[in-house]
Amino acid sequence: MKVAVLGATGMVGRTFVRLLAGHPWFRIEKLVASERSAGKKYGELVDDSPEEFRDVEVTSLPEFLRDPDVDLVFNALPASLSKEVEEELAQSLPVFTNARSHRYDPDVPILVPEVNREHLKLIDVQRGRRGWEGFIVTNPNCSTAILTVSLAALRGFGIREVNVATMQAISGAGYSGLSALAIQDNVIPLIQGEEWKIENESRKILGELDGGEIKPAEFRISAIATRVPVLHGHTEAVFVKLERGSLEDVREAFESFDPLGELGLPSYERPLVYSDVPQPRLHRDRGRGLTVTVGRLEESSGGFKYVVTGHNLVRGAAGGSVLNAELAYRLGYLK
Ligand code: NAP
Repeated sequence: MKVAVLGATGMVGRTFVRLLAGHPWFRIEKLVASERSAGKKYGELVDDSPEEFRDVEVTSLPEFLRDPDVDLVFNALPASLSKEVEEELAQSLPVFTNARSHRYDPDVPILVPEVNREHLKLIDVQRGRRGWEGFIVTNPNCSTAILTVSLAALRGFGIREVNVATMQAISGAGYSGLSALAIQDNVIPLIQGEEWKIENESRKILGELDGGEIKPAEFRISAIATRVPVLHGHTEAVFVKLERGSLEDVREAFESFDPLGELGLPSYERPLVYSDVPQPRLHRDRGRGLTVTVGRLEESSGGFKYVVTGHNLVRGAAGGSVLNAELAYRLGYLK
């Protein structure tokens, strides 16, 4: 299938391009960015461009919208632009997006294939309501993606309460997001809007699809988000209370979690690996960046505590989106 990457020169867009180089099902036809980048060769703008895209000329967004001529779109544009752009494209094309613009629409899934693959059925509801031939599938905010993979392994024990403190990498703020002077030698305990996203997206993702809508999971959840001087890889300290299950049961659930192994998706890797001391620099690239590392599991205040770390740009963004498109392809939603 011919694909376009929107926002191809940004942090998430570059990751899409790297992951899609040589993909067996999806071939990049168009790299789209702002007027600042349009007309330049991709390799002039992105130093570590894969060789095959170095000479591709970047297309401006208005030019792309006039004649998309692709089979599906991966979106890594800022949210401020994405709402209208995605709605226009979804009239005829499948759109897999990292932007938050449509995550909270009742007929749009926030998809993490290993957690809620059945939510993909919302595509039919969406098409029915909006009269689109295409559709929009979102992936979660980066911290939420990493957290929900770990929580999905515990779902069978009845999740009652989740408290999480995140330590998020600089690349999560975009290519020119944070001044070096602000983050070097520092921890910033405020990421605008992030805590609300983690709390609400997690309950939607772990919720149940019932009669064409998602009933959010009922557990209580509270998050505090911090930015730390790590290049890539978000780490999260999680405290969880469950209805049942021993320490051994929880560890076994983490170690055996492999929900999509049978589908043969090209990007699929085991979503969780247990390791005693998870650390972003050591573990973010595990499973091509799609594996989340969980460890430091102990009993705590009538529940359990653990640490989880994962690659924000791969598991938390472009890699999750590519996996979403692969699942949609495998389940017959892409022609
Ligand atoms: P970024 O590094 O700032 O990249 C933004 C991209 O959008 C660039 O390619 C930029 O092109 C393009 N762009 C900006 N204004 C444009 C315009 N007016 N017309 C066309 N293109 C324009 O941002 P990012 O971190 O990659 O994030 C992209 C999206 O993913 C955002 O919605 C973000 O919230 C979401 N997200 C990010 C992460 C993460 O870990 N970073 C994780 C999950 C979700 P130029 O280079 O030409 O300016």
